[in-house]
Amino acid sequence: MRSLWISFLFVFFLFPLCAWGNESVPIRVLLSSGQSWVRADSSSGLVVVDSYTGERLAEARSARLAPKGNRLRLGKKLLTTSCVDIEPAFPEYPMRLDGGRWYRGSFRVRNERGRLSVVNVLPLESYLYSVVGSEVSPDWPLESLKAQAVAARTYALWRMEENSQKIYDVVDTVADQVYNGYHWESSRIRQAVLATRGEVITHDGRPIKAYYHAACGGHTEDADYVFPDAPFLKGVICEFCRNTPHFSWSRIFDAGRVRSVLAARGIRVGPILEIKPESHSSSGRVDTLAVVHSWGTRLVAGARFRMMLGPGTLKSTRFSIAPQGMYARSSGETAHLPASRAGGRRTFRFSGRGWGHGVGMCQWGARGMANAGYTYRQILNHYYADQQIMRIP
Ligand SMILES: [Zn+2]
Repeated sequence: MRSLWISFLFVFFLFPLCAWGNESVPIRVLLSSGQSWVRADSSSGLVVVDSYTGERLAEARSARLAPKGNRLRLGKKLLTTSCVDIEPAFPEYPMRLDGGRWYRGSFRVRNERGRLSVVNVLPLESYLYSVVGSEVSPDWPLESLKAQAVAARTYALWRMEENSQKIYDVVDTVADQVYNGYHWESSRIRQAVLATRGEVITHDGRPIKAYYHAACGGHTEDADYVFPDAPFLKGVICEFCRNTPHFSWSRIFDAGRVRSVLAARGIRVGPILEIKPESHSSSGRVDTLAVVHSWGTRLVAGARFRMMLGPGTLKSTRFSIAPQGMYARSSGETAHLPASRAGGRRTFRFSGRGWGHGVGMCQWGARGMANAGYTYRQILNHYYADQQIMRIP
């Protein structure tokens, strides 16, 4: 692995990128939508402001909003606006949403066709305090937390550019980055975010779509195969997630269940006889899968197949498939047992490695690299090869 660092193509730049604004630019995180009411609480008080006019509508410790026509009702009072901002009386104090999680920043509550959406608006760096703590354990080595902070900041900035015309920048789930609010912060995470303050991974002077995933299982993936919007992200060897919980896995799928899952997504096939990889990506992941059934053969993209079965169920596309209920013929070939002798079911064992799409940084690999003494810059250099780090002012 040391030879990897000889070709040190990764360049570390530190200069302003004013085009993106600065780190105090707020990020807008969609927390919920389709709600029939919303309540915010703060022990230190809160202020409700009309988002359009800036008029202060109420000061209280708690605010309950509900839709009324195309406007909002605050408690029993009908407002003239369809959108309000709920702000803490003291900016550093978090507020609680619907009796559940606590959040920094403010809540923007909007009436959308008779239902309420809630967007949490807060400084990007404050958002990262929670995202890094929600994505990885605060007990991980500090250099891996720093690498995660830079990757998460970069991804967020990319989304902020991409979604500037929408009412929010990111959602709070794995669809973007997991964000669980104030109580997922910790002093070590804040230390990691502050130590990399404003640092962003770039390509041609723009923030990249800094994909990352839990574990690659030995080799990360070329983005081309999964996310065509980041073609410059290339797969690399990773020897650092080997002794981790997600390095290898095995799962048995019933042919009937696979058939019904495919049918639910509009792919109709007959009783499934065989499932086999048709083509592989350069990193060895299944690019295309052949589903051989009683009516013919249907090809399905490996990444799509994984999403259909569930990304937590079929953990990655880096797998091999062994049919169960097989027997060996005297010729040395293998064949399926009759369904009656195989318990009436045809099953397939998927044996795989890694968890996630495999593109960009391997989070468990980053942890392994940090434990081996690598710095966060070396970690980022490894997984985002040939990209640059810049610092926003
Ligand atoms: Zn890895």
